[in-house]
Amino acid sequence: MNILDRYHAMDYGPAPEARNEADAWLAARDFSKALFIDGTWKAASGGKSFETSEPSSGKLLAKISDARAADIDAAVAAAAKALPKWSASSGYVRAKVLYAIGRAMQRHQRLFAVLETIDNGKPIRESRDIDVPLAIRHFIHHAGWAQALDRDFPGHKGVGVVGQIIPWNFPLLMLAWKIAPALAAGCTVVLKPAEFTPLTSILFAEICERAGVPKGLVNIVQGGPEAGAAIVNHPGVQKIAFTGSSEVGKIIRKATAGSGKKLSLELGGKSAFIVFEDADLDSAVEGLVDGIWFNQGQVCCAGSRLLVQEGIADALIAKVKTRMSRLRVGSPLDKNTDIGPLVDLTQLDRVKGLVAEGARQGAVCWQPDAALPSSGHYHLPTLATGVSPANILAQEEVFGPVLATMTFRNTEEAIELANNTRYGLAASVWSENVNLALHVAPQLKAGVVWVNGTNMFDAACGFGGYRESGFGREGGREGMFEYITAKLPLGPVIKPAAISAQPVEQADGSTIDRTAKLFIGGKQIRPDGNYSLAIATAKGKLAGEVGLGSRKDIRDAVSAARACKGWPDATAYNRSQVLYYLAENLSGRADEFSARLVQLTGVTAKAAREEVDQSIERLFLYAGLADKFEGRVHQPPARAVTLALHEPVGVVGIVAPDTSPLLGLISLVAPALAMGNTVVAVPSERYPLLATDLYQVIEYSDVPAGAINIVTGRTAELAGVLAKHDDVDGLWVFADAETCAKAEADSIGNLKRVWSGNGRGLDWASDEAAGDAFLRRAVEVKNVWVPYGD
Ligand code: NAD
Repeated sequence: MNILDRYHAMDYGPAPEARNEADAWLAARDFSKALFIDGTWKAASGGKSFETSEPSSGKLLAKISDARAADIDAAVAAAAKALPKWSASSGYVRAKVLYAIGRAMQRHQRLFAVLETIDNGKPIRESRDIDVPLAIRHFIHHAGWAQALDRDFPGHKGVGVVGQIIPWNFPLLMLAWKIAPALAAGCTVVLKPAEFTPLTSILFAEICERAGVPKGLVNIVQGGPEAGAAIVNHPGVQKIAFTGSSEVGKIIRKATAGSGKKLSLELGGKSAFIVFEDADLDSAVEGLVDGIWFNQGQVCCAGSRLLVQEGIADALIAKVKTRMSRLRVGSPLDKNTDIGPLVDLTQLDRVKGLVAEGARQGAVCWQPDAALPSSGHYHLPTLATGVSPANILAQEEVFGPVLATMTFRNTEEAIELANNTRYGLAASVWSENVNLALHVAPQLKAGVVWVNGTNMFDAACGFGGYRESGFGREGGREGMFEYITAKLPLGPVIKPAAISAQPVEQADGSTIDRTAKLFIGGKQIRPDGNYSLAIATAKGKLAGEVGLGSRKDIRDAVSAARACKGWPDATAYNRSQVLYYLAENLSGRADEFSARLVQLTGVTAKAAREEVDQSIERLFLYAGLADKFEGRVHQPPARAVTLALHEPVGVVGIVAPDTSPLLGLISLVAPALAMGNTVVAVPSERYPLLATDLYQVIEYSDVPAGAINIVTGRTAELAGVLAKHDDVDGLWVFADAETCAKAEADSIGNLKRVWSGNGRGLDWASDEAAGDAFLRRAVEVKNVWVPYGD
């Protein structure tokens, strides 16, 4: 074929990337010593290995040392040994190491890209232009955070030794997302790559050697789930950062419950790609190509659910099919390839199985008429139409090149469909009307929203999910918080509430008997079980009785909190005014609350008055901060602004402590309310009358019904119900260690965000028991990307 013929055919000839450097590297390396521990290459104890093969051919690439528990012990010991010096070193010293890693990676950029493509199967265009440059940017960006740590995060320090576990879909990029912030924060690392894709992590460890990274800072161990579990369960690790499936994320949440380990989970997704009728359809089609066929759809935030407005559905689908017919499926090392093989045969079988099941459930699955290479784990791009919201292709993460399509009539329906998933990682909104797009973005339950774009990432912008897509953010300022801790003023160890068999002494009849009920949906109501709990004064006499709340009462309270729209939808200024009003009304009854504190806890009148005054002050503080703890605007290298918005977590359960029973309760409820959350509070089991006395204060203060709900009763039981309730988004527990651990373990149903005191209270009277550390837990950061320019 001559040039003229080619021009007329408009066809692409092969344009293979050279692989000789990568093959030479593979041939020269001793993969039987593939564990990088304490700066040296080690074989796995027990001498076992696993195989990594090339997805485009199925051929064996290498046999890699498979780490055992003893190897994880050695890696954690090396990280612990290196920690004191590294965490004490100056920001400048740490910045230089991060910068050196970034620069050394730049010098070997092409080798990284080719190796990644050979090992993972992703098209070379992607590894060369996206994965590797972004990974490098992460190290260089975080060099800056190392130096800015003291200035930007005063009172914080690195968490210590960090265990990190990553998946196979972006092997080098995920490694960079994990290691760069950890080193910047002064932590040391034990990282386990996925067993399908170990190669670039081995090259990265070589780079660390060359760049002069001190021994023990970065330890990279190879292996599968067993090695991962050994890291998760290791007592010498202070934080686990995991990226992978929601299923394994839940196992890890359970395994770390009660351990005090900090945890971030970046999990799966089923992200919506919403096209409104006024969208630029050609741009939307190009966006879709990126959204679902990037990396063969093996992307956690893949736009795998196309939601298209009815009137344009046929036109858009026709354009999508035409575009799909032109996608080039073939060798990932060819620079013209759009779609390479899936990572492994098991993955290919899984995708095929899901497509077959989707079709069985009524979806119409269409594929372009294209030939697949004769070997390798290839799957044609697939478009499923006629997909019902309950179809497996609409609900399950396929993690392959499969797009499920549904239509919507209006904006409300689009939002409802988009949110009809247990996940909440990302969403993409297409409309030429930026007002509409920015009206929709805050209503989507997703950690990242791209307006007229998709799959935009940057080291300066946080990335992470809502709901079962996990918690924590990676990247930028938000991501740094995952590797540092604020020094909170610890209070006493909390003992489990003793359930006394002794009836408290009868009241002396000097006061009018008052029965405290529960406070649900703005009303005082009797507990469902119609049982009461006798509450004793400090002297053992009957102070009063409160409702003994049960599972049913918690359910009613959660429903009321969920139904309350007036609070999360109120302006921050509105919320601020209501909190000021609460403070004002509490101050009007300060004498009464002081007397109650004396009566119940036996503190002196002076101490009681101080606690009441501090409670009022704290309400004032959060009233003032309600409209000040705001998000930020990032300016990534792309032509876009990224709005890092602070959104309420949602319905937050709060289990309040016995110590400082009024101040402790208010110190937790006020910041949650300030950020627009609705609350189901379980007050102190011993001193609940302080909370029930608040009902009238709340009623007089213009708090919308359902914004604050109070259920009295047994702490352990009610905390357990809240933890298991899948409509509770966040749970803050300050109770005994067993209740805290159980709450963490029981929270896996919807992966709610749990903040547990791990059996310790705080010194609630301290100024440090207030402020940003509390507000940060009361918000989710949503990053909305808004591109600009023609
Ligand atoms: P996976 O959960 O099976 O494995 C991820 C990692 O966890 C691997 O390194 C694996 O060896 C390890 N592992 C497996 N079982 C373990 C256990 N019991 N304890 C400790 N470690 C264990 O996921 P995968 O198939 O490798 O990756 C695909 C998943 O990752 C998808 O669900 C995808 O959405 C998700 N993902 C999420 C993000 C994100 O940022 N949210 C990014 C990339 C991938």
